[in-house]
Amino acid sequence: MALKDIVGQEKALRILLGTLRRNRMPSSMLLSGDTGIGKRLTALNYAKAVNCLQPVDSDCCDTCSSCRKIESGIHPDVISVFPENNEIRIDEVRKIDEMLSFKAFEGRKKVVIIDDAETMNINAANAFLKTLEEPPPDSLILLISSNADNLPDTIKSRCMHVRFYPLPLEGCKKVISKKTDTKDMKILLNLAMGRPGIALSGDVLKEKEWCLKLLRNMIQGESKDIWEDRNAMKLWLDMSFLVLRDTAVFKITGKTTDMICGDTCKTSSLQNVIDAYQRLQMLKGLLDFNLNKSISWNYVSSIMRNALNVSNNE
Ligand SMILES: [Zn+2]
Repeated sequence: MALKDIVGQEKALRILLGTLRRNRMPSSMLLSGDTGIGKRLTALNYAKAVNCLQPVDSDCCDTCSSCRKIESGIHPDVISVFPENNEIRIDEVRKIDEMLSFKAFEGRKKVVIIDDAETMNINAANAFLKTLEEPPPDSLILLISSNADNLPDTIKSRCMHVRFYPLPLEGCKKVISKKTDTKDMKILLNLAMGRPGIALSGDVLKEKEWCLKLLRNMIQGESKDIWEDRNAMKLWLDMSFLVLRDTAVFKITGKTTDMICGDTCKTSSLQNVIDAYQRLQMLKGLLDFNLNKSISWNYVSSIMRNALNVSNNE
């Protein structure tokens, strides 16, 4: 594929293709936005376009040897960095510095794609800042983040910031239908909420069942089956936002036709649902601070029981 094939991110693509057409690529860019909306795919195809041997209208050709190597992850001038155990450490930054210190082997630019850049720990971020301040010639650093607020301002301010947004329904449908059969399309579209990468991650339907089961346990006061780790908690919170959304819709309309999760939760108070939503959003923002699991479970339990208080229902 090429940049032109990325669906639903016209604004970001206009900016990125503009830098290629004018041959004015910044040395570092931050691609930010929700998970599953095409940031990494775009970064990879931008790296291809930058190094393409026969670009088509400044976009990559997707067929030359450079494009094929980058696509398969074997181009010597393009590397990807991912967090390990939810963290990017200083060793990774040293590896990046070393790679960037060489001349490009065969490409026009050396490209580093850093996924989940906000997971850089403090030492890594400080070291990386020096790389950003004095970028080696012909280097291009692409930071990807679904939580850019957690990146230090000093890093953000040195990058050209390109924002990505959830896809409109039709765009989301187009991406999902290319990769999966249509039998589960409606539920996948609902769960994706404009983030096709989420729907295509393979386990979204199972994850939904798991989240709802945990919620039922929580409401019944059981606590033997709590979240395994921070990622599980994040996933669960995202799903609980959908449950609260469904609950609010049901309270207002009395209809089940617009449910996303399919489980009808009742509430005695719309305000309690809104409060719960806000509190859980705040909690999600604190997840990187290694919250105590069982205290968080008790806190979330009381919020959800209060919001979905079936026994107090009219
Ligand atoms: Zn090419």
